[in-house]
Amino acid sequence: LNRRLAEFGTTIFAEMSALALSTGSINLGQGFPDTDGPEEVREAAVRALRDGRGNQYPPGPGVPELRTAIAAHQERRYGLSYDPDTEVLVTAGATEAIAAALLALVEPGDEVVALEPYYDSYAACIAMAGGTRVPVTLRPHEGSFRLDLDELRAAVTDRTRLLLINTPHNPTGTVLTREELTVIAELAVERDLLVVTDEVYEHLVFDEAEHVPLATFPGMRERTVTIGSAGKTFSFTGWKVGWITSAPGLVAAVRSAKQFLTYVASGPFQYAVAEALRLPDSYFADFRADMLAKRDLLAGGLERAGFKVFRPAGTYFITTDIRPLGESDGFTFCRALPERCGVVAIPNAVFYDHREQGAPFVRFAFCKQTGVLEEAASRLKTLA
Ligand code: PMP
Ligand code: GLN
Repeated sequence: LNRRLAEFGTTIFAEMSALALSTGSINLGQGFPDTDGPEEVREAAVRALRDGRGNQYPPGPGVPELRTAIAAHQERRYGLSYDPDTEVLVTAGATEAIAAALLALVEPGDEVVALEPYYDSYAACIAMAGGTRVPVTLRPHEGSFRLDLDELRAAVTDRTRLLLINTPHNPTGTVLTREELTVIAELAVERDLLVVTDEVYEHLVFDEAEHVPLATFPGMRERTVTIGSAGKTFSFTGWKVGWITSAPGLVAAVRSAKQFLTYVASGPFQYAVAEALRLPDSYFADFRADMLAKRDLLAGGLERAGFKVFRPAGTYFITTDIRPLGESDGFTFCRALPERCGVVAIPNAVFYDHREQGAPFVRFAFCKQTGVLEEAASRLKTLA
């Protein structure tokens, strides 16, 4: 393994999912739903397979039906208009979108400012692109993890090329507010930065929180690459359909990298996701309401078990603080948890460069059936 990747080892998700299997534990680690997405969308995939749509290499930028549906979704939800031919690119999940965007836009030596804790592929992809990551740490403040905007400003130097933003934020569940996004946008314009914004949890925002795409702010559309995922939005994480929307020059750049990563992916599933994006608003509202109920179920269980809970404003993850349980190291805690009570979780420290900052935090996924969450809560209760 080369020096760029040596520090990363095996992803925590693979390690923890294997541990869940070998111990027969409830897997609240890796974030994937235990219920597949809508029947009619699965039927659409079957039809595409049977009718021979997408069984051979689809077009490099994605099938036209899907690009059109992605553009229509951005218009319908956010009033953002994108040309399906030049401003939309279909990728092999959001994971490839992140990789292709960073490989296309970062020069060796460029600094990339990202919100810490960060989704693990960010650090690895910045490294593969030869960039230097500059973490800005979200810190606990009155029940949620917040961004210090002065720290963000101070992190930008003459070498900064790109801001890598994620809202709703994995693993903390933070949803950046309109005010925070305004400052980020002003900074990007003032310092002439590119922005890659991972918005895969765009449909999972709760209570008063609102998802506002960074691309909607003044001066941002032409400098922002926005990332979405059918895996997250329609509960088909195995299909690996993701996308970017951006200005033509940036889309062309990302396409240049993407064509040598996978070239294309997910042929028949692209047609099915095109239909999924056209589901009525009620699908998105029901999805959100269902996840909200699950959030409250698991959050209550974790509180009763003695954790400090950061009730998330978005995503399907809950970050907890384990110190009230007399624990201080999330790695040790998560490695022992399956034996202690048959539940798997993720130590947030893996999402930090400043590992010590993340040490006492542990993430639980709640995209699971109600009965599974109830069982997990009752197992966790034995820790109290
Ligand atoms: N970004 C974030 C923040 C995620 O949590 C995930 C998946 N858990 C991804 C990207 C990757 O999405 P996909 O499965 O579409 O590759
Ligand atoms: N994004 C998911 C999570 O945060 C997992 C994706 C993966 O396994 N790479 O749990």
